Amino acid sequence: MKTILITGGAGFIGSHLCDALIKENRVICVDNFITGKKENFAHLLDKKNFELVVHNVVQPIEIKEKIDEIYHLASPASPLDYSQIPIETLLANSYGTKNLLDLARQKKARFLFTSTSEVYGDPLVHPQKESYWGNVDPIGPRSCYDESKRFAESLIVNYKEKYNLNTKIARLFNVYGPRMRPKDGRVIPNFIGQALQKKDVTVYGKGTQTRSFCYILDMIPALIKLMASLEPGPMNLGDPTEITILELARKIIELTKSESKIIYKPLPKEDPKRRKPDITLAKTKFGWQPKVYLDEGLKKTIEYFKSKYFA
Ligand code: UDP
Repeated sequence: MKTILITGGAGFIGSHLCDALIKENRVICVDNFITGKKENFAHLLDKKNFELVVHNVVQPIEIKEKIDEIYHLASPASPLDYSQIPIETLLANSYGTKNLLDLARQKKARFLFTSTSEVYGDPLVHPQKESYWGNVDPIGPRSCYDESKRFAESLIVNYKEKYNLNTKIARLFNVYGPRMRPKDGRVIPNFIGQALQKKDVTVYGKGTQTRSFCYILDMIPALIKLMASLEPGPMNLGDPTEITILELARKIIELTKSESKIIYKPLPKEDPKRRKPDITLAKTKFGWQPKVYLDEGLKKTIEYFKSKYFA
């Protein structure tokens, strides 16, 4: 049985990863609950092969037992969160990544980092391929996230080179699904919460900006396949189906059968205009591509929000 350490295991993506990996492995979840929630893995706490370590990855971490794989996910990830805790975000991706890379060295473990489409900033190339360098403002409102993820990628490739580590960089495009927090500020939880409560649905700007949304249960196997592969990345992981934010608002109002109206609010500064992954690399390296259609994934997410928060 492998021992797998997941930082950010109490978060939205991390807790789904714990669920998938616990089936055949021992899982050590590291989290300080700054944005994650214990209830995301409450159902795992009494399992013998699950362990929770409450720890801030910004501090060096000591683990006595062997570790075979490290997934480093710990970081605030929604624009609202990281605008409120920018320093914590910068440090989780810089000091945090260094601490986990040192642990990977010490344990001779494989290491996977969840980077982001935000490394491409407001992209001038469309769709975005891994070879694109991005268009990022180093001091802009998103820079605490974008630049710390970019710094982490550089740290990883340099550790890999110098210490011959087995590292992998995944660049995740917008992921959605059950266990997102209703108030995390991201577009899908916002729109679903508003539609279910018959409140106005807030489209920022004209809603012509695009995103490409990947359902959580499509993303999890991609991360596991990347870890198992020989591929170091960076590798784009996401769903290439692009949609405007206005279309998304209409779709969510329709799927929730809501009477909500759409209202327009100012577009946040430096909000990327479009985003769509080129996933040729993931497709060719291990035949992965998302399977869940947006409508289907949204229905499951709406059910979750309805039963958990708006019953
Ligand atoms: N957005 C919106 N209304 C909201 C929340 C977000 O129109 O209530 C827009 C936001 O301006 C952005 C897109 O939806 O263009 C996606 O935002 P999100 O915060 O989910 O993630 P991002 O991809 O920008 O990091």
